[in-house]
Amino acid sequence: MPRYEYRCRACGANFELSRPMAESNASAVCPDGHDDTVKLLSTVAVGGSASAPRGAAAPGGGGGGCCGGGCCG
Ligand SMILES: [Zn+2]
Repeated sequence: MPRYEYRCRACGANFELSRPMAESNASAVCPDGHDDTVKLLSTVAVGGSASAPRGAAAPGGGGGGCCGGGCCG
């Protein structure tokens, strides 16, 4: 779940919340209970592990995902 950073304009505190992307623009309440907050631009690394090795293909495979499960014979 992405993490967003907010700043409370009432007390000046910065805080982070982990929430779904769909709620990233919803109002956040600071730990002290103030709701006068703004969302900061943060560098969230979503899907940062895209360098996973992909060379371990099954023998004879190459696209189906069917053979081997018993549906081909
Ligand atoms: Zn506050």
